[in-house]
Amino acid sequence: MADYVLPLGRLIDSFRKLPGIGSKTATRLAFAVLNLSEEDAANFASAILESKNDIHTCPVCCNLTLEGLCPICADAERDGSMLCVVETPKDVMAFERVREYRGVYHVLGGVLSPMNGITPEMLHIKELLSRLEDDTVKEILIATNPNVEGEATASYLARLLKPFGVKISRLAYGLPVGSDLEYTDEVTLHRAIEGRRPMNG
Ligand SMILES: [Zn+2]
Repeated sequence: MADYVLPLGRLIDSFRKLPGIGSKTATRLAFAVLNLSEEDAANFASAILESKNDIHTCPVCCNLTLEGLCPICADAERDGSMLCVVETPKDVMAFERVREYRGVYHVLGGVLSPMNGITPEMLHIKELLSRLEDDTVKEILIATNPNVEGEATASYLARLLKPFGVKISRLAYGLPVGSDLEYTDEVTLHRAIEGRRPMNG
């Protein structure tokens, strides 16, 4: 990006590192930043740094949080007997939009993907198993996405969790295969929770 004065070139390069952003969009965004007010630019920069520095992983559910337990794990009103296993923090946000869900979560941090070299050790599965040591959890709802990797991960977890004697269920999507939980509306997701089907009989 030697064509641009240095800070602008760095800004363009930074935008290009984000998913789904090519050179053209990166350039457009960088010029848009130049047009921000001093205050908006400062807010933007500090939001990036604070997000990066202050956000941590909840020691229990592996969701994102500021410090210590996440607000969901810390909430005594939540139903700890119902545990919903999701791929990412964005999926937790999707579930939280469904007000009827009052259980807790476990964020895997991805899905198994032999093609991309993602093995069980790379996901928060050990943390999930350690949550089953006391008898609090009665049902595990596996809510990985309805695509090949999400289904394979759900089957893997169902097999792994079987000896623990908890009820294991799978979200009943009623959605086209390959659709993304993140973009599922509340009504559909609520229906998918209500219609969940048992995976261990
Ligand atoms: Zn948590």
